[in-house]
Amino acid sequence: ESAALSRIGLAGLAVMGQNLALNIAEKGFPISVYNRTSSKVDETVDRARSEGSLPLTGQYTPRDFVLSLQRPRSVIILVKAGAPVDHTIAALSDHLEPGDCIIDGGNEWYENTERRIAHVADKGLLYLGMGVSGGEDGARHGPSLMPGGDRQAYNNIQDILTKVAAQVEDGPCVTYIGEGGSGNFVKMVHNGIEYGDMQLISEAYDVLKHVGGLSNSEIGDIFAEWNRGELESFLIEITADIFKVKDEDGEGFLVDKILDKTGMKGTGKWTVQQAAELSIAAPTIAASLDCRYLSGLKEERESAAAVLREAGLSDELGEMVQRQAAWRRVVGLAVSAGISTPGMCASLAYFDTYRRARLPANLVQAQRDLFGAHTYERVDRPGAFHTEWTKLA
Ligand code: NAP
Repeated sequence: ESAALSRIGLAGLAVMGQNLALNIAEKGFPISVYNRTSSKVDETVDRARSEGSLPLTGQYTPRDFVLSLQRPRSVIILVKAGAPVDHTIAALSDHLEPGDCIIDGGNEWYENTERRIAHVADKGLLYLGMGVSGGEDGARHGPSLMPGGDRQAYNNIQDILTKVAAQVEDGPCVTYIGEGGSGNFVKMVHNGIEYGDMQLISEAYDVLKHVGGLSNSEIGDIFAEWNRGELESFLIEITADIFKVKDEDGEGFLVDKILDKTGMKGTGKWTVQQAAELSIAAPTIAASLDCRYLSGLKEERESAAAVLREAGLSDELGEMVQRQAAWRRVVGLAVSAGISTPGMCASLAYFDTYRRARLPANLVQAQRDLFGAHTYERVDRPGAFHTEWTKLA
C-alpha cells in the first residue's frame, strides 16, 4: 500500500474530534480527518499547520476519507451521540471493507454500541465503543481512554492509544476494558462520579460564600490551597482558575454573571438509571442530577423564593414554612449524632433548593464551559457564551 495513506482516520471535528486528531498527529501517526460540514475540516487542517506542520490530511467526502487510510482501516468517530453516530456509520461503511474497524469515541449509551457491534459485524467490520475523558484539553494533550468491544480492533490501534493517552506515574491512561459496550459503561459511570464531584464542589462554594461570607478572591485562594494538598485534582484546579476570571464585559467576576442553570448531556441520568436498575444506592450522583433539574426551574425558584422565605414566620404561610425551624433542628441533631435520616435530609435539601432564587449551579456551568466548551447563559443578557477560562485566569 502507498506510504501516503494515513495510519488512522477521525470523523467529527467539533471540540473533541479536532483536538484528539491533532494529538494523534502530534504523536507521529499520520491521520486523515473528515467532518460533515467541510469548514471544520479546513479549520483542523489550519490548526495542524500552525501547531507545527503535523501529519494531518483533510478529506471532504466519506469515500475519499475512507480510501485515504491504510488497511485494516481504523476510523474514530466523534460526533453527537445517538442518531448522528448511526448516520456517520452509514456514510462510512459503504466504503469500508471486512476487517476494518469503527471506534466511537463519544459518550454513547452502551446498548447502542452493542446494537452497532452486531449490525456492522454483518459486513465483517469490527467495532469499539471508547470513552474519552478530559474534555478539550485532555483530548489535545492526553485523555483517559476507555475502549471496549472487539479485542482485535483494540490490538490494531493499541500503539496509537498508548501514545495519545495521558501519561501518569503508573503508565498511560488506557486499558482494554472488555467486550460489548463496557467501555461506554465505564465512561458513563465515570461521568456520573464527575457529576457528584462537581455538585460537592459547588456546595463547598455555596457554604464558603453564604455561610462564611467570603469573597470570590478568598474562595479562589481556598480552592488553590486545596489543590496543593490532598484534594489536588483537575476539578479543584479549574475551580481555582474560574474564581480568577474577571468579567471582560462589565464589573466584577465572571462567575457571578453566569446564569445558575446547569446543562447536561445525559451520562449522569444514565448512571442514576443504571444504579436503580441494578439496585445500587448512588445518593450523591442522584442528588447532583436532582440539583441540575432544579437549577433549570429558574423562574419557578424565583417565585418560590418570594413565598417560602427563610424566616418563614409569616402567619399566612403554610404549615411547612412554619415548622421548618423544628425540622432543621431535628435534622441537625441527627447529623451531629451520626443517626442517618436520608429521607428527612433529602426532603429538606429539596425544599431549600427549590426556594432559592440563586443556586451555585453557575459554578457547575462555568466548570462545564471550561473543560468541555459547553457554553453558558448570562444573568444580564440573552445568548450562549463561551470563555477561554484558562487563558484569562
Ligand atoms: P458535539 O457537539 O457533541 O457534536 C458535534 C459534531 O457532531 C460535529 O462534528 C457535527 O457535525 C456532528 N454531527 C451532529 N449531527 C450529525 C449528523 N446527523 N451527522 C453527522 N455528523 C453530525 O461534539 P463534541 O463536544 O466534540 O463531542 C463529541 C462526542 O464526545 C460526544 O459524544 C460528547 O458527548 C463526547 N465528549 C465530549 C466531551 C466534551 O468535553 N465536550 C468530553 C468527553 C466526551 P457538523 O459540524 O457537520 O454539524
